[in-house]
Amino acid sequence: MKIIFLGTGTSHGVPVIGCRCRVCNSKDQRNIRNRSSIYIEKSGISIVIDTPAEFRLTTLKYKIKKIDAVLLTHCHSDHIAGLDDLRRYNELQGKKIPVFGNKETIKEIKERFSYIFKKTQEGGGKPKLVLKEIKPYKEFYIGKIKILPILVKHGCIDVISYRINDFVYMTDVSYIPEKSFKFLKNIKILVLDALRKEKHPTHFNLSEAVGIAKKLKVKKVYFTHISHRLDHDLIQKKLTKNMELAYDGLIETI
Ligand SMILES: [Zn+2]
Ligand SMILES: [Zn+2]
Ligand SMILES: [Zn+2]
Repeated sequence: MKIIFLGTGTSHGVPVIGCRCRVCNSKDQRNIRNRSSIYIEKSGISIVIDTPAEFRLTTLKYKIKKIDAVLLTHCHSDHIAGLDDLRRYNELQGKKIPVFGNKETIKEIKERFSYIFKKTQEGGGKPKLVLKEIKPYKEFYIGKIKILPILVKHGCIDVISYRINDFVYMTDVSYIPEKSFKFLKNIKILVLDALRKEKHPTHFNLSEAVGIAKKLKVKKVYFTHISHRLDHDLIQKKLTKNMELAYDGLIETI
């Protein structure tokens, strides 16, 4: 299984518009962060988790040739704003693309992207999507790939983390419900929300994320959804070998 980090930034992206801080003005490419999403390729199947505003730019940059399915974590704008650009993949592939999300996410997609599902506006370039509602802990398949959705909390909002074999993608999380821990054993690679050093009401900060990675005894953790308050180089020097700040364009195989 191949993984490409398409984006590793928080909702503003990094650099933040108009910000003069050292990270936003850094020359280090690892401090330039598009909004968070990830590409997964396994057994010829291509999946993206979330479609942020930069979806078109990142799929071009990392040469993503096809998308068989989209998994959505939740419906905050920084995770879905680029959904419309799936239409190019409809054209390339000549078929509809399934989009998976929990009940709230599917409802919000229907509202915010209502034009997609209206019978009017035919002929214009609209994406052709099949919305698929999923329930936490109920496995489903994309081709032969088994996907396990796991519930986490993002403040008071339900967010879906996705597990594929020993890989887990968990972003926009500030609390993991007790029930979810039994689905988080024997993880080889965990991608985990670590917004900044300071505490935040709806995201794990770095020390909380480090604590979760240790508690779960994961072999390797990549921190994502990173704000401009974390300088890649400075933070990375302080982390142990099995913990890494992810950066845009990072490729991993598992
Ligand atoms: Zn987010
Ligand atoms: Zn800044
Ligand atoms: Zn969010």
